[in-house]
Amino acid sequence: MYRGSCLCGKITYAVVRFGPLMAHCHCTDCRKFHGAAFSTFGEAKCSEFEWLTGKDILKTFIAPNGSTRQFCSHCGSSLTFQPANHRDIMEISVASLDGEHSLSPDAHVFCRSKVSWITLEDGLPKFASSRGNQ
Ligand SMILES: [Zn+2]
Ligand SMILES: [Zn+2]
Repeated sequence: MYRGSCLCGKITYAVVRFGPLMAHCHCTDCRKFHGAAFSTFGEAKCSEFEWLTGKDILKTFIAPNGSTRQFCSHCGSSLTFQPANHRDIMEISVASLDGEHSLSPDAHVFCRSKVSWITLEDGLPKFASSRGNQ
């Protein structure tokens, strides 16, 4: 069982297990959403993800492409992402997890939008757009 929270601590969640795929995403939307060079999301089935507290102050941003991102309306922490066509999957911001864990990203995606001021030297596969697209 994994637990995570936002910066102010009002929103907490639990994840039973993560799927095997965990990518660093360099797309422009992720950069803006996190205010950082890239995001790192892990995937869980919605049935294995649960908001524990603060669901009432969660805000949802719906992008023009129909994907949704959820964040804390009190402190602004970026918490989740859902693609428009996979509503059964919840992608969770790995950096918002609390405590130690052994999760490990396995790829960089949307590297075509990567900022020039970061050098990737971790040896993970880099995809120009989504996974599998060089
Ligand atoms: Zn918060
Ligand atoms: Zn992204």
